[in-house]
Amino acid sequence: MKVSIIKQDNYDYNKTKETLLKTLDNLGGVEKFINPGEKILLKPNLLMKKKPEEATTTHPNIIKALAEIIVDQGGTVLIGDSPGGPFNNLMLSTIYNSTGMTEASSIKNTELNSNFGSFTKEFKEGVILNNILLTDMINDVDKIINVSKLKTHGFAVFTGAVKNLFGLVPGTNKAEYHVKMPDINDFANSLIDICECVKPSLHIMDGIDAMEGAGPSGGSKRHLGLLLASENPHYLDLAACKIIDLDIEEVPTLRIAANRDLIENFDFTKDILGENIKNLIVTDFKKAPANSGNLRNIPKPIMNLLVDRLKSKPIFHHDICVGCGDCAANCPPVAIQMIDKKPEVDYDKCISCFCCQELCPVKAITIKKPFLAKLIFK
Ligand code: SF4
Ligand code: SF4
Repeated sequence: MKVSIIKQDNYDYNKTKETLLKTLDNLGGVEKFINPGEKILLKPNLLMKKKPEEATTTHPNIIKALAEIIVDQGGTVLIGDSPGGPFNNLMLSTIYNSTGMTEASSIKNTELNSNFGSFTKEFKEGVILNNILLTDMINDVDKIINVSKLKTHGFAVFTGAVKNLFGLVPGTNKAEYHVKMPDINDFANSLIDICECVKPSLHIMDGIDAMEGAGPSGGSKRHLGLLLASENPHYLDLAACKIIDLDIEEVPTLRIAANRDLIENFDFTKDILGENIKNLIVTDFKKAPANSGNLRNIPKPIMNLLVDRLKSKPIFHHDICVGCGDCAANCPPVAIQMIDKKPEVDYDKCISCFCCQELCPVKAITIKKPFLAKLIFK
């Protein structure tokens, strides 16, 4: 399976639609992915209440242009995601408005998801998850198109196609995954299980304005000017990581996908359509600070002794904090208490999942890598 990469400088609506049509052509034509009468879920990354220009969420013009393409083909569109907080109308309507999805849904035969139910899907082939709790909105559609944002990630190192589908686990239920799977390898395996279980028909990645540094929400916008797509989420992530100079071994979902034989013989020369990837590589793309390196080769007993000293920790900056309480409300092991409207963390309970940093609306949480980890994983 191929990966399409096309250069695009900005989010101009007409240009975005043109690039998306070229992308679909590269991958076999629009008819291959959209049939008349089908209802298609567009699954953007709507991590939190952010404006499109902050580069935290999938840009609304990509969603709007895709919706128009689907409707032009005789289909109908549902736009939906489940961010980290409560999965309900109040939370989602605020996020739809701020991220531009309300405007994106102005295309005819296009609606925003308002089904906040969930169900459990059996997945016998799962390596870690054999029963997966998912949002019910996927039962309302015939197909899913996954539209991720290219970003660094404090816990998962990188978030693209595979990680974006964690948003199909309903709201606060995501916390259980972090509590049950503090080990990144288990967590990455579970992300791959979710991805293989829901199997979107197409994966598109917004790499026009990406995020580097303290992603997925506290980093900086980095212009890459690229729109990427593939039917294969692992190849798409592999190509995106190649561009931002992340090796397959550094990214848990890629490393484990390769171990599970989901990445085989990908050829960066023959399997990329559009641009020559060699000309796109950005060698100074900043990694997420919590990227603590590869612990796999350290013997387990030594790792157990070291793990607490090597783990990155969230640091709360009370001078920036506005006391919203989102970090405390969404901390999986309930390690944060709000005292006098400021968060206090119990580091003995903290599992370094960085959900707090991901959800803080004012970047009041940074991640500190211990000195020992810096020495070992330079
Ligand atoms: S304090 Fe933050 S990093 Fe630690 S467990 Fe809670 S949400 Fe995760
Ligand atoms: S989420 Fe951020 S602003 Fe809100 S209480 Fe926590 S640290 Fe403060």
